[in-house]
Amino acid sequence: AVEIRGVRKSYGSLDVLHGVDLVVEPGEVVCLIGPSGSGKSTLLRCINHLEKIQGGMILVDGELVGYRRSGPDLVETTHRETCRARRHIGMVFQSFNLFHHLTVLQNLVEAPIHVQGTAKGEALAHARAMLERVGLADKHANYPAQLSGGQQQRVAIARALCMRPKLMLFDEPTSALDPELVGEVLEVLRDLAGQAMTMLVVTHEIGFARQVADRVVFMDQGRIVEQGPAGQVLDAPGHERTRRFLDRVG
Ligand code: ATP
Ligand code: MG
Repeated sequence: AVEIRGVRKSYGSLDVLHGVDLVVEPGEVVCLIGPSGSGKSTLLRCINHLEKIQGGMILVDGELVGYRRSGPDLVETTHRETCRARRHIGMVFQSFNLFHHLTVLQNLVEAPIHVQGTAKGEALAHARAMLERVGLADKHANYPAQLSGGQQQRVAIARALCMRPKLMLFDEPTSALDPELVGEVLEVLRDLAGQAMTMLVVTHEIGFARQVADRVVFMDQGRIVEQGPAGQVLDAPGHERTRRFLDRVG
């Protein structure tokens, strides 16, 4: 589970998150929607401590990520401890950030071998299974530049899965793709959701959210404005701001 309690985040004098509370239960798929600049990416980045927070706390499976308690305060942990706390959180960005000098298979086994210390044979076998899962078993020896955008994003998802995550964070995983490649990536997400992966997905794909999300959360100006079952938030929103946003994105 992810428990986000009263999280405040600012960049200098700019307050970006004004006390966000959100819980994602194990196996739950939550889609996070909202206008540009509302703080969706920032919230995701706070979860695995790519960003410091100025107030509140975030627990992943009951553990702080990037902080430890010191009396009533939270203090940052060392980089090493932060990496350790992050090991079960997979993150996939809009841009695929694959290692371009490595083949697909090498991309997949890099972190399991060098960060997690998994034996090479085991890492390779697991990587092949994850490639199979995203439908790219035949591309193991290709370099990223030899793949389409949709295939590269599926490799990025497989690479995250190779870390055996308990939680997957997706930040607009399809918005850099040509329209005809969006479907194949959403299909992989749908498949993951079907296998009870805990997922927090920032997306503009309202159709996908309607189909796959257990819960939809609408954020605006650093606050959660409303949340609930997809059908409720998307088809009968209770807030004017949600309605206006949905009218715009269709
Ligand atoms: P989009 O839909 O465009 O991706 P978003 O909801 O993901 O938007 P964020 O990227 O979280 O929005 O940004 C929230 C606010 O924080 C914006 O006002 C943005 O300009 C600001 N912001 C984000 N990152 C930084 C940064 N590193 N330094 C300063 N301000 C930032
Ligand atoms: Mg964003």
